[in-house]
Amino acid sequence: MSTETRAPSAPTVLSGAFPQDSRVSPRGRLEVGGCDAIELAREHGTPVYVVAEHDLRTRARAFVRAGVRSGHENFQVAFAAKAFPCTAVLRLFAEQGLSCDVASGGELHMALRAGLAPERILLHGNAKTEAELRMALEQGVGLVVIDNFAEIDRWERLLAGADRVQDVLIRVTPDVRGDTHDHISTGQADSKFGFAMAEAPEAIARIGQIAGLHLLGLHAHIGSQLLKLDPFRREIAQLAGLGDFPVWDLGGGLGVRYTADQPEPPSIDAYVDTLIAGAAEHGMGPGSGRRLLVEPGRVLCANACVTLYTVQSLKRNVSHWVAVDGGMSDNLRPMLYGARYEAHVADRLGGADRCVLAGMHCESGDVIVREALLDDPRPGDVIAVPATGAYGYAMASNYNGVPRPPVVFCGDGSARVVVRRETFEDLTARDAG
Ligand SMILES: *Cc1c(COP(=O)(O)O)cnc(C)c1O
Repeated sequence: MSTETRAPSAPTVLSGAFPQDSRVSPRGRLEVGGCDAIELAREHGTPVYVVAEHDLRTRARAFVRAGVRSGHENFQVAFAAKAFPCTAVLRLFAEQGLSCDVASGGELHMALRAGLAPERILLHGNAKTEAELRMALEQGVGLVVIDNFAEIDRWERLLAGADRVQDVLIRVTPDVRGDTHDHISTGQADSKFGFAMAEAPEAIARIGQIAGLHLLGLHAHIGSQLLKLDPFRREIAQLAGLGDFPVWDLGGGLGVRYTADQPEPPSIDAYVDTLIAGAAEHGMGPGSGRRLLVEPGRVLCANACVTLYTVQSLKRNVSHWVAVDGGMSDNLRPMLYGARYEAHVADRLGGADRCVLAGMHCESGDVIVREALLDDPRPGDVIAVPATGAYGYAMASNYNGVPRPPVVFCGDGSARVVVRRETFEDLTARDAG
């Protein structure tokens, strides 16, 4: 028993970065969806994405409920597939009544494979190929979000002579700057996404001349990991200035908690209330008959997932280095955006040893947590990094020949693999000739 005795300082409550359906067990060990993290690591190996399945459902329901509570008769929630493009996740959200937005032919394929009705799918992209447009048309995708004039030309050619009609929105770039990292800010005027506000009337007019395109409304997505709600109101006001349409798609972008010391993000309720109140000011609110879409990605899945790693080596020089068996191949966000995470030893949560949690890749920049506070980490310890459900699996790679980790759903004390770990054979499976 002595090895399982809790350190007096160890927390009994997890930080808000962890899934709601997780806890510190009486033995002082992390449990996700009722499953013991150490046993999950033993059974499935590490690194592994452990997903609290009920959390995904809870958050999807929170969106749907907030829409119903607002009284908006036509409020639709589309999961941004790119945040966690995995069939099981897409299927779970579809079962909760969510639609889905995709940004490539591959994501469209996954959404269809997950059982989404094509009419519940939106296709985005600032550089869609003709093959992707044709695929959308053939599959009966509900809405295509047109991004640029070249795409209008391409649609015109594609639809010439066809007796098909495609419902579309156009993406505009309201000059609203969400207060976030440059790489995930998309609403500023100097953006690779969408039509500038000044170009929008011309785009609307051109689409109006193409018989096969049916323009239903406007779309904007102002950025990601937004922790304030004001920019969304400014976005709605700008969009409304472009005319009156039956469909308004306000994009995604609500931020989440990655670390205990980060400011509390707005709740899903507060976010939906703000959007609907803003919409109401501009004639798209409850009773207006307008369709209001939102496209949350991160907020639906980030906090549902914990990545488990195993400590492989320790080093003390200027810093105290703790190296694990994953890194930028399973979570690129710290390297790409300077994203901050917290980390814990899965059976000794909390701690005060200031460490650098490093990955195993051949890059000095392969650091998962620059300032981790761990409890005496040792080789063989399982490390838990929470809030890895969005844009982690999505951006995983095989860098350094690392097979990508499995995705394991946990709930009610049982675990099931929904994506298996890649094998070494997978790494050479596409070799040709
Ligand atoms: C990425 C993206 C989203 C989702 O963004 P989150 O910040 O993950 O909510 C929604 N819509 C579009 C068009 C996107 O590109």
